[in-house]
Amino acid sequence: MPGIIVVGSQWGDEGKGKVVDVFSSQADFVVRYQGGANAGHTLVVDGKKTILHLIPSGILHSHTSCIIAAGVVLDVERVCEEIRALRASGLIKDQTQLLISDSATLILPYHRLLDQARERSAGLEKIGTTGRGIGPAYEERASRKALLFGDLFQKETLRGKLEVALKEKNFLLEKFYGEKPVQVDDLLKIIESVTQELAPYRCKDTSLVIYKALRCGKKVLFEGAQGSLLDLLHGTYPFVTSSSTLSGSAMIGAGIGPSTITNVLGITKAYTTRVGAGPFPTECDNATGERIRQVGAEFGSTTGRSRRCGWLDLVALKYAIRLSGITSLALMKLDVLSGFEKIEICNSYELDGQKITEYPVSPGDLARCKPIYEALNGWSEDLTGARSLKDLPRQAQDYIQYIGASVATPIDVVSVGPGRDQTLWIKPLFS
Ligand code: GDP
Repeated sequence: MPGIIVVGSQWGDEGKGKVVDVFSSQADFVVRYQGGANAGHTLVVDGKKTILHLIPSGILHSHTSCIIAAGVVLDVERVCEEIRALRASGLIKDQTQLLISDSATLILPYHRLLDQARERSAGLEKIGTTGRGIGPAYEERASRKALLFGDLFQKETLRGKLEVALKEKNFLLEKFYGEKPVQVDDLLKIIESVTQELAPYRCKDTSLVIYKALRCGKKVLFEGAQGSLLDLLHGTYPFVTSSSTLSGSAMIGAGIGPSTITNVLGITKAYTTRVGAGPFPTECDNATGERIRQVGAEFGSTTGRSRRCGWLDLVALKYAIRLSGITSLALMKLDVLSGFEKIEICNSYELDGQKITEYPVSPGDLARCKPIYEALNGWSEDLTGARSLKDLPRQAQDYIQYIGASVATPIDVVSVGPGRDQTLWIKPLFS
C-alpha cells in the first residue's frame, strides 16, 4: 500500500509545495490533512508562478485527484478564490480533481476577526500568527461547537448553528476585544455565495476514498503544511501552529492507519528560516542572514513577512527526523548558498556551559542554546543549471554528504531552483 508522507522538517516554508508538485506526477491522489490557509505553497511551472494555500499542490497534474481531508480547517471564501483561479487558468478541468471532506472544520469570518484581535491585544507577546483564523477554528473544533463543511449543505439547521456560535464569539469580540460583532445574516450571505460553487467538490467520507485507493495499490501522497518545529505538542511552544505538523498527523487528519505508509520524506532547506517569534539558535541577524534572505527570496508567500534566516541546524533536523520517522530527505535551495567562502553548519549546542547534541524540548532551554558550528568550504559556481549530482562542484557534493552522514538519513532529492527541472533526482519515491 504505497502511501508517502511529505513533511517539513524545519519551521515551515521548506519548499514542500515544489516537492509535492514534482512527485504528484507519479501519484494518483494528493491529500492535505492539517492546517489551513496559513500554509502557502509556491509552485513554478514553465516559469509561471502559482501560490496555493488550501488546495493540494498536486492540482497542477490533471490525472491526480486532490483531497482536502477532515483534519484541515477550511476557509470557504479562500478555497473558492483558489478554485476560481485554477479553473480560469485551466488547471481544474473537472470536479473529480478535487474532493473536500464533509468533516473538515469551517473557518468563517469571525475566526479571522478573533485571531487578529487576539494578536493585536497581545502586544509583545504576539505569536506571529497569519491572522487567518486557524487557531480559533481548531479551538472551536476541540470545544465541539465547530461547523463542518457538511453543515453548509444542511440549510434547515445552518442558521441555528451559526447563531449559537455567534453568541459566544460576539461576546468575545465586543466585550473582550472591543471589536464590532458579526451579524448572522451577513454570514449567511457569504455562505450562500460560496456553497453552490463548492457543492461539486463535496465528499461525505474522504477517509473511505483514501482507504480504497490504498487497498487497490494506488499511490497516495500526503502533503504536510508548516514544519515539524511548529508542531503544537513538540514544537517551540507557544510559538507554534495550532495543529500537529508531524507525519503522525497525516494518519489522524486523513483518517487512515499507519500501516499504509511506506516512506516519510522530510523537506529541509540547505539553511534555516523562521517566520514570527520564537527561539531560533542558528539565526544570523547580520549580513549573512540578509544575504540568504535576499538571494533565497525569503519573504512569506502567505503574508509577505520577511523570514528570519540562518545556517542549517542539524540538531533540530535530527529532532524532526526522530519525531516524524523521516526515512529520507529532500534538500532544497542549495543554489542559494553559492558564493559563500565558508558555510557554517551547526551540529551541537552549548547550553549553560555544557555541549549538547540533542535538541532541548523546553523552549526556554532552546532560547539559551548557542550554536556550535563546523565550517565547510563553500563554492562560487551557480548551481541553478545543474541537472544531476555530478554537475555540482565538489564542495556542494561534500556539503550534501556531510548532512546525510550527520543525520544518518539518506538524501533522496536535491533542489537547485524553483523549477521542476531544477530537481536533481537521486532516488524515485514511489519505487
Ligand atoms: P512551502 O510552504 O514549504 O511549500 O515553501 P514555500 O513555497 O513558502 O517556499 C519555497 C519557495 O522557494 C518557493 O518560492 C519556491 O518556488 C522556492 N524554491 C523551492 N525550491 C527551490 C530551490 O531549490 N531553489 C530556489 N532558489 N528556490 C526554490
